Amino acid sequence: MADFDLFVIGGGSGGVACARRAASHGARVGLVEESRMGGTCVHRGCIPKKFLVYASHFRHDFEDAAGYGWSVGESRFDWPTMVAAKSKELDRLEGIYRRLLKDSGVTAIDGRGALLDANTVAIGDDRYSADTVLIATGGWPSLPELPGIELAITSNEAFDLPQLPERIVIIGGGYIACEFACIFNGLGVETVQLYRSDMILRGFDMDIREICCDEMRKSGVDVRLNTNAVKLEKTTAGIALTSSQGDVLEADQVMFATGRAPNTAGFGLKEVGVEVNHNGAVTVDSGSRSTVANLYAVGDCTDRVNLTPVAIHEGRCLAETLYNNNPQIPDHRDIPTAVFTQPEIGTVGMSEEDARTHCAAVDIYKTRFRPLKHTLTGRDETVFMKLVVDRADDRVVGCHMIGTGAGELSQLLGVAIKAGATKAQFDETVAVHPTSAEEFVTMYEPVTA
Ligand code: NDP
Repeated sequence: MADFDLFVIGGGSGGVACARRAASHGARVGLVEESRMGGTCVHRGCIPKKFLVYASHFRHDFEDAAGYGWSVGESRFDWPTMVAAKSKELDRLEGIYRRLLKDSGVTAIDGRGALLDANTVAIGDDRYSADTVLIATGGWPSLPELPGIELAITSNEAFDLPQLPERIVIIGGGYIACEFACIFNGLGVETVQLYRSDMILRGFDMDIREICCDEMRKSGVDVRLNTNAVKLEKTTAGIALTSSQGDVLEADQVMFATGRAPNTAGFGLKEVGVEVNHNGAVTVDSGSRSTVANLYAVGDCTDRVNLTPVAIHEGRCLAETLYNNNPQIPDHRDIPTAVFTQPEIGTVGMSEEDARTHCAAVDIYKTRFRPLKHTLTGRDETVFMKLVVDRADDRVVGCHMIGTGAGELSQLLGVAIKAGATKAQFDETVAVHPTSAEEFVTMYEPVTA
């Protein structure tokens, strides 16, 4: 008999979710993690990022309080205090992850696991046999090759900088670049964001992209479109970045948020016959099975939809299928998501552009307004909402919002979309007043035929 029914390589969101669910169904499960239990989300992603978003938002909050009669004394931000508080909480979370694994009966091992063959995982000098192996090794920031790139940081380092830079240049136009540009700007850092194409946040609805860019610029981020980094050089004052426009930008830190690549090298995958694509992503079928029958992969290492809750969903579906006689194929449709820019974005379903290619005819409903709170603060901040409706069956196929609370709202809009809600049902839903959300059920007239 093998040492384990299931051996998981990688203790991030997907690996831990699968391990715990499998163990709850009676499987004998081992899991190896080379860094910290909890993975990217807990240690270098979602959670510390959200702490930084909160930290940076206080600047607005202090300013806005005056409109409501508050006098707030001089405020000062101390980066090391924030970093220490964040790190303490992440230590606590890691402890919880370890305890949950232990309580579920999973054998957690610290070290780097690699496949020796399809049924054997090596960790240092130790060998573990398993009937099934799950690869859940996540992703890692990818950097372009350009002169001086070694001077740059990525999101991995941004969370633990010894001091807050006075000036930063961020390269990229995706989730991470936009979120960090807003974070650093909010913390008072002079922030320039370079994006190589016409508009940030490719793949999102164009109205959302444009409004997000406007809002970021209004709040102080110097967003430069159609601009890329060409080279970095060390100077006495920091780093000089030469842009594709020929400008030289001086900064204390330069951060590349130019995408993440699957972390699949050095685990013995190719050697045992697991196919990976040009990007290094493990090739899997709809049930997360790799090209080797007893080897599976979930999460960012498969480069499907690179979000924590998706990795968890994929991991749990697999455990249900293999150990609970309950076959489940992960559903990658209509995944709600949030971008924690300031203001934040919440979205689910198709963008207007996608819907126009997939549906014969669509109706678009949209509204843009200043939220009630800011009528007294005077802050020039927008809320924008949009519904995309398939005219053929009146179903709402896309909901998009930028504004305070958009992330929270997108969760419930996701339920409505998943349930196949029609525009008539949105209209029949009684509004919650006074909220911004009520606008989602009071947009009666389409703006575009
Ligand atoms: P993304 O893939 O979202 O964005 C990468 C950005 O870098 C794009 O704007 C891309 O441009 C640009 N880029 C890529 N290569 C180069 C290059 N050589 N030179 C200049 N620019 C380049 O990656 P992120 O790193 O922002 O995020 C990774 C993943 O993490 C996301 O896909 C997301 O799934 C997840 N994530 C989710 C969050 C959330 O849910 N809130 C938060 C953070 C991350 P172009 O558009 O032209 O390709």
